[in-house]
Amino acid sequence: MAYFITDDCIDCNACEIDCPNNAIYAGGAPYELQGQEYPALHDTHTYIAYDKCTECVGYYDEPQCVIACPSEAIIKDPNHVESHEELLAKKEKLGTTLK
Ligand code: SF4
Repeated sequence: MAYFITDDCIDCNACEIDCPNNAIYAGGAPYELQGQEYPALHDTHTYIAYDKCTECVGYYDEPQCVIACPSEAIIKDPNHVESHEELLAKKEKLGTTLK
């Protein structure tokens, strides 16, 4: 399951720098995945590209964006449910590295 940023977001971008998968983007900005650009998933506030979010599996025990968010605006996305094993495989596929 990926995480999702709700409309409680105050657009402080505190979450963005902590994501090991570079899955967090400014509202309106397209996101990049394996050399391809995709349309923004939200126009007015920071968003998570769900196909790049591994819930921090493989990097941290807790989702770093949730910890960083001062307005409790980041929740599990019920529309993108994945098992631990699927998240680990996603992390390997993304091939991202800790900053
Ligand atoms: Fe990034 Fe982790 Fe938040 Fe997913 S849960 S968006 S991988 S910081």
